[in-house]
Amino acid sequence: MEFNTFTFVFLFAILTSVLALLWLNFRQDKAIKRSFNEVPNGFKETITLEDHQKAGNYTKAKLLVNHFEIIFSTFIVLVWTIGGAMNWLDVFWSQRISNPILMGTTFIASIMLIASFIDLPFSIYRNFVLEQKFGFNRMTVKTFTADLIKEILLTLILMIPLIYAILYLMNISSIGDYWWIYVWVIISLFILTMMWIYPSFIAPIFNKFDPLDNDALKSRINNLLERTGFGSDGIFVMDGSKRSSHGNAYFTGIGKNKRIVFFDTLLKGMEDKEIEAILAHELGHFHHKHTRQRMISSFIFSLASLALLGYLINQNWFYNGLGVAEPSSHTALVLFSLALPVFSFFVTPISNLVSRKHEFQADAFAASHTDANDLISSLTKLYKENSSSLSPDKLYSAFHDSHPSAVLRIERLQ
Ligand SMILES: [Zn+2]
Repeated sequence: MEFNTFTFVFLFAILTSVLALLWLNFRQDKAIKRSFNEVPNGFKETITLEDHQKAGNYTKAKLLVNHFEIIFSTFIVLVWTIGGAMNWLDVFWSQRISNPILMGTTFIASIMLIASFIDLPFSIYRNFVLEQKFGFNRMTVKTFTADLIKEILLTLILMIPLIYAILYLMNISSIGDYWWIYVWVIISLFILTMMWIYPSFIAPIFNKFDPLDNDALKSRINNLLERTGFGSDGIFVMDGSKRSSHGNAYFTGIGKNKRIVFFDTLLKGMEDKEIEAILAHELGHFHHKHTRQRMISSFIFSLASLALLGYLINQNWFYNGLGVAEPSSHTALVLFSLALPVFSFFVTPISNLVSRKHEFQADAFAASHTDANDLISSLTKLYKENSSSLSPDKLYSAFHDSHPSAVLRIERLQ
């Protein structure tokens, strides 16, 4: 096996993306320092200097962890590929399991397990050091361990049959070169099923969901749903406080199986009319069909990716360039899923640009069906409670942020 031109293209892309990410982080850090001693205009009455500086310190601490994560995860990708780890694992399993589909499934499952253990120290640090230090962590070691075990079991139960089915389709000769269309259908059906069963079957494995028992708020919400022409199969409160004091709200599920979920941490400290405004924002996403648009574009993206994989799977340079000697369906799948993010990295700003446009549209929808001032005050509370930075760097924000900055959102609402 020899490295080739593709090895260098891959190395160049990965190096460029790492440098770009570190440079953006550095800019963000500078922007936080610059505004550290003054609360940005528009927030002087609602956010104290102390809160603002806490948000600044929190953002800087998160950036520091992120530096390490960027460098470390790149190192891991390189070890898997040109470092030869994947090739070694491929040889290891092929000497033990002769059925190619079973062998491929074992190969992929073992990579997923190893990857989740590599990620473990970062996840421990984030929860028990970083979040703890700023007073956001509510997770006990017991919850953390239980979550980890549940996640691993759930992934194995759901993913192994899916991977097996994908490898089976890739290996039957009767569908020939068009296997990727069949695989795409299977993956799309899998995702739709997950979205459908998530609210009622998967989310309750991790959290408790109680029906909202605040009658005044409930009638406000039902009134809003009626005004805006929505239906739902229930309003629930989730025990988010089990893990973190960060608050959130979401509207989940597809078809008739839709639920409105509020974190208990969000309900605390918000007035009813502010909660109504937050929900109106979420409904705005549905009204403008953002959720559907996102889903359709991700299906198109996955079809295009699979078509590309359909081509790459027959190219020896693709395997050899990424450190794998023996072409196979399972190595092609893993190499592709490692290499794709390196190249699609350069598309992230576009997807975030669309997302920020959607946020403005949802805000406008909320403002037309509830009082804009309620959304402003609830957003301000959210930024304060979550210690979100009010003065991000423009380029950093353009690249990373799926939501417009607080200053821009509130300016528009006014
Ligand atoms: Zn939104």
